[in-house]
Amino acid sequence: MDATNDCPSCGAPIPADLASCPGCGDPLAGAREVAVEPMRQQALFAFSLLKSAGFHPILAFHDEGGEPHTLEAEEPFSLGGGLMIPVTTTFGVYVPRSEAEESARVLEDARLGGIETET
Ligand SMILES: [Zn+2]
Repeated sequence: MDATNDCPSCGAPIPADLASCPGCGDPLAGAREVAVEPMRQQALFAFSLLKSAGFHPILAFHDEGGEPHTLEAEEPFSLGGGLMIPVTTTFGVYVPRSEAEESARVLEDARLGGIETET
């Protein structure tokens, strides 16, 4: 396990329990992706599952270049300024580095337990 994680944008060290960079505010600089979903509903499902399990998940979508952009979970259907999310995108669920291992296990358990909404 790495003790520190330097921000890819500004180089500031990011504590393991923070997802965002304390230096430049990059919201995902210290985060780890624990789920990638093609459907918004599935990403939201993973997000709510982790949230109810006490983690600090962050919802994001990937643009055509694969760059993640954070979304408000309460308002996941549009971007600020009324921009719509491209249909070809995928959605990612991120957690702070210190929560990555445990939250991945929670998601895996949920899938094995058949809680997945997909049939
Ligand atoms: Zn930074």
